[in-house]
Amino acid sequence: MNILVINCGSSSLKYQLIDSETEAVLAKGLCERIGIDGSVLTHTPAGKDKVRIETPMPNHTVAVKLVIDALTDTGHGVVKSLDEINAVGHRVVHGGEKFACSVVINDEVLKAIEACNDLAPLHNPANLIGINSCREIMPNVPMVAVFDTAFHQTMPEKAYLYGLPYEYYEKYKVRRYGFHGTSHDYVSARAAELLGKTREDLKIIVCHLGNGGSVSAVDHGKCVDTSMGLTPLEGIIMGTRSGSIDPAICDFICQKENITPAEMNNVLNKKSGVLGMSKVSSDFRDIEAAADDGNKLAQAALDAFYYSVAKYIGAYAAAMNGVDAIAFTAGVGENNILGRAEIAQYLGYLGTEIDTEKNNVRGEDRVISTDASKVALLCVPTNEELAIARQTAALVS
Ligand code: AMP
Repeated sequence: MNILVINCGSSSLKYQLIDSETEAVLAKGLCERIGIDGSVLTHTPAGKDKVRIETPMPNHTVAVKLVIDALTDTGHGVVKSLDEINAVGHRVVHGGEKFACSVVINDEVLKAIEACNDLAPLHNPANLIGINSCREIMPNVPMVAVFDTAFHQTMPEKAYLYGLPYEYYEKYKVRRYGFHGTSHDYVSARAAELLGKTREDLKIIVCHLGNGGSVSAVDHGKCVDTSMGLTPLEGIIMGTRSGSIDPAICDFICQKENITPAEMNNVLNKKSGVLGMSKVSSDFRDIEAAADDGNKLAQAALDAFYYSVAKYIGAYAAAMNGVDAIAFTAGVGENNILGRAEIAQYLGYLGTEIDTEKNNVRGEDRVISTDASKVALLCVPTNEELAIARQTAALVS
């Protein structure tokens, strides 16, 4: 079965066509600048050269049409016709409390996703536009919504309630939801597999460290806590997001800088994290290079980042009363050899021992702790598109 995986943003659309039997990626690509001048589609068919198509994309429906044309093109296409696309899996950022698992999309599901727009105003409306455009172009193809928040819906009340007046939860559903759920789910299952065990027998901490980052506690297969909250702003220090801070800082800075709460929100999301701290970049490679050159702020940003991850690992080892495995994933987690070693420095009290040689790996599934280590450390590349394709295939077949 060929599954088209769609990740739709407000002006972009990422896609992969995956054969669910072989799990091979037949083609992948990206539409950029949808609705803006200079729209471009980059299409990469497996085993063939990348194609760049510069053509106007006034809206997402046009973009989806171009994606289908690229996939079925006689030259750079990978299937003969639309009939060979058996289902579409859509990444949806926020499923609120309504969705604890992936679902086949129908009109009722669309309404329920729309009802979560308030909780993710930048993401959910864009996801819905992507779904509606696909339904317009492929009215007879079954579609599935896979939610970033769903895996975390097993969290107990004590983990998801904030220390706020309960009426905010009652009136506005203000609570911890968590994000990157598809990745935490995939990586925790894969970590168990690499250890020759099932997830149901293990306590696993997943550190998804990318430009955005989150840590989660997966106790015997169920998420019991995660670092992101109502929005992806909470938790560890990230590329451009502050992570957890004293909430009183917002009012303090608004007054000092004469900015509005919305402007402050923008600072916290886009100008903070290791970017704001280092004044160098949000890209960890640039910050590492600057730190190597003796830039003290860059080193301080890296140190604070590693420390913030180590603190969450400690918190989640406590939450689960132990931990069997800690898995590192996403851009930084999979590739930053030094970063994993720095974080492991904090974990001696758990009996962890990183193996310097095994840790010398980028983007590869591997146990990176010594045989004597009491807690297994692992590098596990995430694959959210494959996870979405698997869940879509399972629901439509
Ligand atoms: P993601 O959001 O998962 O795509 O991750 C993006 C982040 O991964 C960026 O900040 C990159 O700097 C970081 N990254 C990618 N490769 C490396 C590397 N070799 N060393 C350190 N960081 C890396």
